[in-house]
Amino acid sequence: MIEITLLGTGSPIPDPNRAGPASLIRAGGQTFLVDCGRGVLQRATAVGVGAAGLSALLLTHLHSDHIAELGDLLITRWITTFTPDPAPFPIIGPPGTAATVTAMLKAFDHDISYRIAHHDDLNAPPSVEVHEHTEGPVWDRDGVSIRVGPTDHRPVTPTIGFRIEAGGAAVVCAGDTVPCAGLDALAAGADALVHTVIRKDIVTQIPQQRMQDICDYHSSVEEAAATAARAGVGTLVMTHYVPALVPGQEEQWRTLAASQFGGRIELGDDLHRVEIAPRP
Ligand SMILES: [Zn+2]
Ligand SMILES: [Zn+2]
Repeated sequence: MIEITLLGTGSPIPDPNRAGPASLIRAGGQTFLVDCGRGVLQRATAVGVGAAGLSALLLTHLHSDHIAELGDLLITRWITTFTPDPAPFPIIGPPGTAATVTAMLKAFDHDISYRIAHHDDLNAPPSVEVHEHTEGPVWDRDGVSIRVGPTDHRPVTPTIGFRIEAGGAAVVCAGDTVPCAGLDALAAGADALVHTVIRKDIVTQIPQQRMQDICDYHSSVEEAAATAARAGVGTLVMTHYVPALVPGQEEQWRTLAASQFGGRIELGDDLHRVEIAPRP
């Protein structure tokens, strides 16, 4: 079984009740953080997961809302890992990830030097191991395998989705993307697809060009649902709601998705948890 927890269901627009984009995937005794939007560490703490307990960080792309808490994650993992000579933190993302991580650590140069000077048992800066990929297998450890495939969020490029498999179940995290062949191939036959969605019917009515611009590189609820249907997945998990999902309107979003997809549809607030078992 694979467990999906929507840690943050928000977007770049700050919301009092929704953390920034991030999902937690627990599979085969391993714990993966997919993207790290604002507030993710607080949300992870609420489900008993600390920065030091992550098996790897998986980044779909380098938009600010998806990496807002990267610096805090790197530092917090570093100072809360108490084993001597800890293994480097695996970070898997698209090309550009290594430069982003290096720059983030650079921004914390002062903090890192203060802590090394102050604590006898902290002798080296945070240790990370960044892997940049656009396609293919990226992880195979103790019964958990992960593959990435290209998505289409142009002009943001390259962007990737992740397919995580364990115990016969497969969960795909799409990130931000319009419908595309790369995602169709990655998601084919998966048990669940976690997809970011925006309500184009609402966003196109906002008299602000900068808001309307977001429609051309995101999937609507209906488009994400159509992708799920084409790929033949069992469960569609929607997240990254733009505009924010208002309590009481869940059925409206669900109905839009159900117009294109006949499987199980999940959506909700931060910390919404979905269990995915392999289908017979
Ligand atoms: Zn994005
Ligand atoms: Zn986004």
